[in-house]
Amino acid sequence: MNKVSHKLIHIFAAFMLVMFAMSTVYANPREAQALTVSRSLATDVERVSPESTSSYTYSLTDTVKMDNTTANNNADDSSSSKEKTATSTKTGAEDEEILTMAVTDESVSKTSNETKNGKVVLASGTKYATNMYIIRSNKPGPVVMIVGGVHGNETAGYKAAAAVKDYSIKRGTLLVIPEANKLAVAQHRRSAKGGSNLNRAFPQSSSQSADTTLAKAIYSAVKKYDVDWLMDMHEGYDYAKNKSTSSVGQSLIYYPNSATKKVAGTIVSKLNRNISSSYKQFSLLRYPVKGSLARSTAQYLGVNSFIFETCSKQTLSTRVNNQLKAANTLLQQLNMK
Ligand SMILES: [Zn+2]
Repeated sequence: MNKVSHKLIHIFAAFMLVMFAMSTVYANPREAQALTVSRSLATDVERVSPESTSSYTYSLTDTVKMDNTTANNNADDSSSSKEKTATSTKTGAEDEEILTMAVTDESVSKTSNETKNGKVVLASGTKYATNMYIIRSNKPGPVVMIVGGVHGNETAGYKAAAAVKDYSIKRGTLLVIPEANKLAVAQHRRSAKGGSNLNRAFPQSSSQSADTTLAKAIYSAVKKYDVDWLMDMHEGYDYAKNKSTSSVGQSLIYYPNSATKKVAGTIVSKLNRNISSSYKQFSLLRYPVKGSLARSTAQYLGVNSFIFETCSKQTLSTRVNNQLKAANTLLQQLNMK
């Protein structure tokens, strides 16, 4: 090697070193924000009294009562009575671990496998492969993920999510997975034949990974796109207020966090305004079941997550409308729609 080329190599190496140093300083300001730990949330989480909701402009009387009585239930649209009545051993102290993710200052940047119209395939190349649509406003704002079809027989969820994928938004980024468990949706079954319940396959501790290929792919997407809010669309076979069944139809189940609670209360209140029968009104419940997408993303990734359940005793159009009204209210509350 002659002297000149040796010198060139040195200059090149020095240049690369400077570029690397700059990239660590400037490339990822969001990562630092995501690590903000909020310890003040714990009191808000456990104290559910009329006082704590007095700043709301709507009445939460009914839903607050519901909130109290089911405080430690692990609920989603469980078919087993255990899940609706079992009391979790969770304490307030555990809730102190909640991480709050700051609203992101920039839109999610494009990734390599994304198509022009904003679509990526999750679990690509496997039989679980399913589309995730990415709707960008190109303005700073929150990243919201809306998921349908985690359970393949809960029609209103995946029909509503399919409509949401065509939305346009004012700010932030909207990620939509209309048919999370595509195989189950195709078979119109809660879980695909031979497959497991997707809504129990997500991590149950901060060190654990998701159980299945599909759950891993969805959980990775939540992390990769730095999701701030997550709505998982489900259906129950009966009304949550019917205590003789374990179903939680007509409910919103959130993981406690003051921001999530406020938006959840607004959604339930808005929907209930048009439902005269209190039996059929939406209940505000806490603690999505362990292993569910909403529970894991909220507890371990700090996402403001909730499950929204319509009741399959109502007509499909009513159920889809209720799902969409809930999604729209979420987006309006975040000034995205
Ligand atoms: Zn479900």
